[in-house]
Amino acid sequence: MFRLVCVMYKYIIKKITEQDDIREFILVPKEQGIDKHFCGQFVTLYLFEDAGNDKLWDVTRAYSIASPPEEYPMLRLEIKLQGVFTHKLWECKEGDILGVDGPFGIHDLSSLPDKPLVMFAGGIGITPMICYIRHLILNNNDRKILLFHSCRTRSSNINYEELKGIADNNPNIKVVFVFTRDNDAPGEHRRIDSEMIKKYVTDFKQNAYFICGSKGFSESIENILLSFGVEKTNIVTEAW
Ligand SMILES: Cc1cc2nc3c(=O)[nH]c(=O)nc-3n(C[C@H](O)[C@H](O)[C@H](O)COP(=O)(O)OP(=O)(O)OC[C@H]3O[C@@H](n4cnc5c(N)ncnc54)[C@H](O)[C@@H]3O)c2cc1C
Repeated sequence: MFRLVCVMYKYIIKKITEQDDIREFILVPKEQGIDKHFCGQFVTLYLFEDAGNDKLWDVTRAYSIASPPEEYPMLRLEIKLQGVFTHKLWECKEGDILGVDGPFGIHDLSSLPDKPLVMFAGGIGITPMICYIRHLILNNNDRKILLFHSCRTRSSNINYEELKGIADNNPNIKVVFVFTRDNDAPGEHRRIDSEMIKKYVTDFKQNAYFICGSKGFSESIENILLSFGVEKTNIVTEAW
């Protein structure tokens, strides 16, 4: 559903956890919150000039919702420290107030073509996918998933332990951990290329594909898939 009016709800930062340059923020609505999301949607985040007073900062950013709809009304966001907005966000502490609007976005991962799903996450591009995987697990859904998750190092992968546990315990979910700057971490040790994809994907035409990451990452993976004969209608791409 599309909404043209901006409605901002106040959320309390319940918990912040940090790993490397990524933080997970657990948010709960102060009073009323946003409507329930589906997997793949995002929110717009607002910061207050002074932790919870009514003066909003005029810079906003979009963040995918990493928590599954089942955790509603709580929201989990996984955010990488980058520039203007995130440096100010890093000044916030537990108990502070943030503004949230949403949910926005049309990519409902539950409604992708009903085929085995191959997903490619570039770094923090994992957020819509971890939302969906958590949703599948909570619903004992046996959809076949193959996830390539590329990070610089093991410590920059905030979801490593969780994803490893999920893959170890669910025969339908396979995770290929890819590390571009960490040869000691278990997994593949270079950027994702056609040889690597061919090693894990046997029949390209039987799957649906979802890609999320930087523009360069998403374009390069999409081009590889197209070169293997995958139809564009079977690829959903999100580039931040
Ligand atoms: C739908 C959607 C969902 C998203 N979900 C997530 C998510 O789940 N998690 C997440 O972490 N992000 C997500 N993003 C990205 C997020 O919205 C922000 O873009 C991100 O947090 C960076 O914002 P920033 O203000 O901190 O960085 P910015 O200040 O906007 O800078 C962005 C990058 O550009 C570089 N940069 C800035 N200025 C210059 C310059 N003058 N010269 C060279 N380089 C420069 C910065 O170093 C930084 O790497 C999402 C984006 C979209 C559109």
